[in-house]
Amino acid sequence: MDPEKPIEDQFSKLHPCFPVNTRIGIVGGGPSGLSAAYALCKLGYSNVTIVEKNQSVGGMCESVEIEGRIYDLGGQVLAANSAPFIFHLAKEIRAETEDMDFHKFAIIDSSTGKYEDMKVVDDYVSIISLTLKLQYYILTSNVICQQDEAKSSGRMGVHSVSNIAWDLSPEFLKGHGLRSVPKSVAYGFTASGYGFVQDMPYAYVHEFTRTSMAGKIRRFKGGYASVWQKISEGLPIQVHCKAEVLAVRRKPAGIISIDVRDENGEKQGMEFDKIIISGAFPFGSGKTYRSPSPNIAEFSPEHIDTSELEREMFSKVQTIDYYTTVLKITGLEHIPMGFYYFGEFMDDPSSIGHPVAMQRFHADTNVFLFWSYGNSVDIKGPKVTELAVNTVTSMGGEVEKVVLQRRFKYFPHVNSQDMKNGFYDKLEFQLQGQQNTYFVGGLMAFELTERNSSYALALVCKHFSNDSPVPEFPYVKRLFPLKSNSQAWISKQLDESPEVEFPDLSSLNGYLRHWGTNSVTRKKTHYTWINDRGEAVGGRTYGELHANASHIAHKLLTSQKPIIKNGDRVLLVYTPGLDFIEAFFGCLRAQVIPVPVIPHDPMQRGGQALLQIQNIAKTCDAVGILSTFGYHTSVRAASVKNMILMAGKGKCSPQWPDLPWLYTDSWIRNSKNILHQEDIAERSEPHPDDLCFLQFTSGSTSDC
Ligand SMILES: Cc1cc2nc3c(=O)[nH]c(=O)nc-3n(C[C@H](O)[C@H](O)[C@H](O)COP(=O)(O)OP(=O)(O)OC[C@H]3O[C@@H](n4cnc5c(N)ncnc54)[C@H](O)[C@@H]3O)c2cc1C
Repeated sequence: MDPEKPIEDQFSKLHPCFPVNTRIGIVGGGPSGLSAAYALCKLGYSNVTIVEKNQSVGGMCESVEIEGRIYDLGGQVLAANSAPFIFHLAKEIRAETEDMDFHKFAIIDSSTGKYEDMKVVDDYVSIISLTLKLQYYILTSNVICQQDEAKSSGRMGVHSVSNIAWDLSPEFLKGHGLRSVPKSVAYGFTASGYGFVQDMPYAYVHEFTRTSMAGKIRRFKGGYASVWQKISEGLPIQVHCKAEVLAVRRKPAGIISIDVRDENGEKQGMEFDKIIISGAFPFGSGKTYRSPSPNIAEFSPEHIDTSELEREMFSKVQTIDYYTTVLKITGLEHIPMGFYYFGEFMDDPSSIGHPVAMQRFHADTNVFLFWSYGNSVDIKGPKVTELAVNTVTSMGGEVEKVVLQRRFKYFPHVNSQDMKNGFYDKLEFQLQGQQNTYFVGGLMAFELTERNSSYALALVCKHFSNDSPVPEFPYVKRLFPLKSNSQAWISKQLDESPEVEFPDLSSLNGYLRHWGTNSVTRKKTHYTWINDRGEAVGGRTYGELHANASHIAHKLLTSQKPIIKNGDRVLLVYTPGLDFIEAFFGCLRAQVIPVPVIPHDPMQRGGQALLQIQNIAKTCDAVGILSTFGYHTSVRAASVKNMILMAGKGKCSPQWPDLPWLYTDSWIRNSKNILHQEDIAERSEPHPDDLCFLQFTSGSTSDC
């Protein structure tokens, strides 16, 4: 996939590579799982199930209501120009964002509560050129990879950068002429829960900077969780919440069975052909970052029947104990809404447990969020709360109430040596897809919603689709998977109504007549026209299309200027829309051959396009042009304008073919719903090998 291209373009040439009813299970309804589901639906897969242990989806994008206001405890902010996939999804569900211009970014002294603005922008500038340089390298090497058949798989997620930026961050930057990690980058990284930069391969810092440096900082109105909730409700998939996966077993026949504890505590079994496992699910019993406990001798994940390769890989993974603690505080009213970094606790890793950052989330409430690291051994929830409360006290505030606390198993990652030794090569080239199992989430993608979502999308495109010019089997592509009502989609297949019969007819026209006159189907929607924002702006029932096609056929066959006979060809010149569909079916009914051509914008100089239309008209010997009144009016206005502009210049621009124009939209408008059956009823049905329509490709007319 090319991340530079719009999402729609990326999907337009892809087809599902497995049967669309392949049973695909997704463990976890967080951003990764839901984004994978979105991509699968977009490809046309119709049997996708998410199993989520919490009572709602969203994963670490958890939003809670406290005293009537919404707070994001986990995923919250996005840089407007660095999160194209999330903003694409948000647009589809019309989620609203708010910019955070009035949010402060400051360093605060934990002993006095005095704060000072961070020079975020200045500081980031020093690292931007390196970030862009790495991105350029990744893009170009991916292109080279795609051109090289032997390595055609390309790289995605952290893998794209792991082979060039495995060095620890300070060393890597020194090697690239920077003395140290800029302070705002280092603080931003640590405050966001990714550990101390000196411990981390630069690849992770790169993923962080490239996703946070471009554009205004924004967040979702009503909380990030509401976005994922709407996505899960809009997708045509099954979502089981309060369903915890207890075990995943891969059977020799390739089938995957999972044990699930449902909301009543009962154990249930499910079976899938493919499984996508999200989040930190496989690393539940793995190592914790900066934990004093010795490394676990043998990695033994609780939930999965791991293969040797999986055990080897997952045993190298650490997660971070990251806490959000919510406190209601008096005495800090002077602190404006914003993010505050505790510099002294971020400079010194031995201070783990103290809060690294806090946020006044809303300007008009005294509820503050604190973020801290734990170590799974002696620094856990109560200690983390105690240290946050102490910090508030030393800043001159008083904790009225500890509202809540969350512990996240955060940011699965590997160390610099393992990254250097090809961890990500093995993960992507050997592990993904082994035993019909795929992994999405922070380890592969880096722990940010945009990174996770776009990785899940890329994984699905890579492993569940192909780009062969012709699909291997017919399937329905969903342009707007989030627009379908999920339950309705699942039960609403074509054979929905028991009374409907499926006769064996030889032509499209025959079927239109059948469905358009059948008492069950004639009032059902046949076509809905959707604009580029995904909104339905028009539609026709089977009955309407049938009637309109009959009327157009009648007008064609009774036309005097020109006289049109069976087998004659007419050009169809329509901007995309339902008028075109009606004209097309009208021609089929009249047994006149429609020749669709691409309408050029009449207001633009369309020299080449008009030449092509002229050539098509000549080649197919068209007798007339079917179009709409509105389009032809624009054509005439444009030609008058051209005549005036060209007057006296002696130049002659290409003209429309000299053929009569017929307006099918006016015919329909004036038809008064009269059904014209008589002059077309007794026409014999066409044979399967009769010519139905003519389509000229752009190259076929250029040199006529
Ligand atoms: C405090 C905090 C602040 C953050 N801030 C930001 C931010 O500002 N911007 C940003 O872009 N990102 C932010 N993130 C990161 C972002 O939230 C994560 O990257 C993202 O949520 C990861 O998505 P995921 O689907 O991979 O994993 P998760 O969100 O962890 O989702 C995994 C899902 O799997 C489910 N699951 C786990 N085990 C099982 C099981 N056994 N059975 C069934 N289901 C299971 C979980 O309940 C969960 O819903 C933040 C995260 C945290 C914790």
